[in-house]
Amino acid sequence: MVKDIVCNMEINENQAAARSEYKGLTYYFCAEACKERFDAEPETYLKKLGWWKRFLLRLGDASRETYGNEPPKCCK
Ligand SMILES: [Zn+2]
Repeated sequence: MVKDIVCNMEINENQAAARSEYKGLTYYFCAEACKERFDAEPETYLKKLGWWKRFLLRLGDASRETYGNEPPKCCK
């Protein structure tokens, strides 16, 4: 299950009506209308993701500090 971050509905990614890629991540939407709203102002919706997502983004920063600019070897 993933969350449509525009309307906060939980959806099955296999049954998502629309999807959008933004900054290397794929977001799923219950309807084309939600995708269009996200595409119009993605940053607005990403800001609403809440503390846990910001925590994950900080983890990403921490691993970049650990590995420098080199990606972990397993990800080549
Ligand atoms: Zn939706």
